[in-house]
Amino acid sequence: MLVDTPVSEGVPIPHAVSRLRAERLARSAKPFMARGGIKGQRCSDCRLVPSHCMCSVRPELPVQAGMCLLMADIEPLKPSNTGWLVADLVHDTFAFGWARTEVNPTLLALLADPQWQALVVFPGEFAPPERVVHTVPAPHSGKRPLFILLDATWSEARKMFRKSPYLNALPVLSLNPEEISRYELRRSGRDDHFCTSEVAALCLALAGETHAARTLQAYLDVYTHHYLQAKHQLPPQWDGAAHAQLRALRIQAPHFKASVITKL
Ligand SMILES: [Zn+2]
Repeated sequence: MLVDTPVSEGVPIPHAVSRLRAERLARSAKPFMARGGIKGQRCSDCRLVPSHCMCSVRPELPVQAGMCLLMADIEPLKPSNTGWLVADLVHDTFAFGWARTEVNPTLLALLADPQWQALVVFPGEFAPPERVVHTVPAPHSGKRPLFILLDATWSEARKMFRKSPYLNALPVLSLNPEEISRYELRRSGRDDHFCTSEVAALCLALAGETHAARTLQAYLDVYTHHYLQAKHQLPPQWDGAAHAQLRALRIQAPHFKASVITKL
């Protein structure tokens, strides 16, 4: 393990995105004020105002795959960043700030770690065809998939993809949006692009971790609900559809087979 990850007992260690946010804040000359952000105190674990804190429903489940978030400079500071949710759910989530002129040696060590099969998640049309894959290769030699997600705006992500030579040797996992319906995932209607946690959910589904994929999607829905309710100064609906879906998934044991889950 290269980077500490949260533990479920005792005082939890802040996850990788939380630590990256703290590092980024420490470098800020002036306080970051998110556009449309909510002023006042926020929970340090879920980033919501205390009245809308959703830490009590944070899922805990075993996830085999790892996630490596390469985050654009300002991304860890955005209250709406969903890479944070990925780190909440996927135990082995790593997060690095991206810079054009330098690379974190810990990231290079992670990419070279033989326990992982790293895949860059990016549209295949931007990569040479020989690098592009559409499925997650079956585990071999005990390797676990490590999904590299470029957590940024689309224009930033394209620049990151082009100007990160250390990614050039890795396969490019190109996602087909049609796969969403196949895995019973769906868009949350946040904007025109898939957000980071939606992409991560699809990666988990492709890796065969359907329960984790659906849980991450449901967790995003709960986060979106709490975020918007807080923004509109309305209370969260703990008995609403988003929470009901997350509760239903929690009841299902992670070792349930996918064929059983789809019938529930
Ligand atoms: Zn909280």
